[in-house]
Amino acid sequence: MQSLKQRERILIWGKTYPELSTKYLETVCTAGVTEAGRPVRLFPIPFRYLSQGFEKYQWITATICKNPADSRPESFRIDCDSIEYGDKIPTTADEWGRRADFMFRDVGWQFPTVEKLFDAQKATGTSIGVVAPLTIKKIELLTRDKSDAKSFEDKFQELKKSLDAKRAQLTLFEQAIPPEMKKLDFIKARFQISWECNDPRCKSHKMQVLDWEVCELQRKHGDKLALEKLNELCDLSRYDLKFFLGNLFLYPHSFMIVGLWYPKRANLLFR
Ligand SMILES: [Zn+2]
Repeated sequence: MQSLKQRERILIWGKTYPELSTKYLETVCTAGVTEAGRPVRLFPIPFRYLSQGFEKYQWITATICKNPADSRPESFRIDCDSIEYGDKIPTTADEWGRRADFMFRDVGWQFPTVEKLFDAQKATGTSIGVVAPLTIKKIELLTRDKSDAKSFEDKFQELKKSLDAKRAQLTLFEQAIPPEMKKLDFIKARFQISWECNDPRCKSHKMQVLDWEVCELQRKHGDKLALEKLNELCDLSRYDLKFFLGNLFLYPHSFMIVGLWYPKRANLLFR
């Protein structure tokens, strides 16, 4: 049975910016690969409320089971209390090579083109894939709707109010005191990359970037610096770039960029 609990060692490769959640305060869409190289999407991870965090390319060991509420084959529920935090792949000259040993061990989620990933999505429900871009056409900032900002703020206030009420009702003897609500900024604009892949059917793709690091750069240092950094990483003459693509639960045909793979091109490594 697929819903059986299993203990897996997982190398984390992707985290998206936190989203508000009625049940978990917030969740971070987190992705990794198992030791066999199979991609997994882990839910729910209220990342900033965990007793300990983890970084990209760090191993964790955790109890997971197939998520009954999400039929996408890569989606698993994780028991956050079961997480054991392992080593991070050390940042050395060959760090990308060491990461690649596990990341690309299973060819099943590596696609030569986005169109091939779409085919797999239709055939088997594949919802995570890696594709290398052939050309980057444009990187732009899309300002999000004012109504999105308003509903974000409303939801934040509503969650905070209900949490404060719960905390106020507690007696000293109760054990599980819920945490205080942490501030979460609404990201006003998201990066969108227009790019082409190497498929005869390709009519180019426009995809938003949900990677947490990119959002953090933007939140802390502003749009301009984040745009410069993203432009640098998307310079295909310098970086052997691949996009990690993930689809949306409600819109399985829509894929977004949930992470970037950007080792320097081999001919530049020793300069
Ligand atoms: Zn394409």
